[in-house]
Amino acid sequence: MTATPLNSESMIRIRGLRKAYGTHVVLDGIDFDVKPKQVVVVIGPSGSGKSTFLRCCNGLEAPQGGRIDICGRTLVQDGQMLPEKALNALREEVGMVFQSFNLFPHLSVLDNVTLGPRKLHGLSRKDADALAHDLLQKVGLAHKADAMPGSLSGGQKQRVAIARALAMRPKVMLFDEPTSALDPELVGEVLQVMKMLAAEGMTMMVVTHEMGFAKEVADVVVVMDGGGIIEAGDPQTIFSNPTKERTRSFLQAVL
Ligand code: ADP
Ligand code: MG
Repeated sequence: MTATPLNSESMIRIRGLRKAYGTHVVLDGIDFDVKPKQVVVVIGPSGSGKSTFLRCCNGLEAPQGGRIDICGRTLVQDGQMLPEKALNALREEVGMVFQSFNLFPHLSVLDNVTLGPRKLHGLSRKDADALAHDLLQKVGLAHKADAMPGSLSGGQKQRVAIARALAMRPKVMLFDEPTSALDPELVGEVLQVMKMLAAEGMTMMVVTHEMGFAKEVADVVVVMDGGGIIEAGDPQTIFSNPTKERTRSFLQAVL
């Protein structure tokens, strides 16, 4: 299979996505579209497949069935993933931020951000440094360029992780519970950076339990449970007038 350019208005187009671990079906035929510049917030109980869904979208998980088109390329077709080389190229366009930051502990903040652009995009050290300084400034951490990750707070680490992902010039950003590992007082600074990205028109999918963020920033809220999307709609509808009983009981438990 080749990475055929896709003629589609969707930034992400998912059809019949199926993922199982052994006999345990986690995603049971998901259909979903993300339009350019949309912010989609994914909510749902623990174990409902939110992380698996996101990981399928950048090829970190291989599904058993269905199709995913993303950034104008076909990532998965009939459960078949792109070959490794094309997959790596596509992953550069799909930034991902994890709950656990995943910074390289032995590299400075600056080098964490410049590594990808230098190794994968062939930027000179000078150009990569300039790019990294711009991005660190953007996330409010220009003064930490020479610091080591171990000396940063969780909120600062996560902002570096966002800068590092942005350094690859992604077309889509996926966030998997980016603030769940943070002390409550550090959540806001990370959400602030995410709000800024949304305002700049970045296409984003965000798994989060921060319902305030969902209400304020999401174009679409997706509720997952029992292997699928049980409900999707604008935040106003999902939070004030959900149609599914399961959405109601989930929201009652978390709000
Ligand atoms: P969520 O992010 O909504 O909490 P996950 O996508 O992490 O849910 O997990 C969905 C289900 O798939 C859970 O039952 C989980 O135990 C299972 N699962 C996730 N990853 C694996 C794996 N690598 N191997 C086996 N089961 C897994
Ligand atoms: Mg998860």
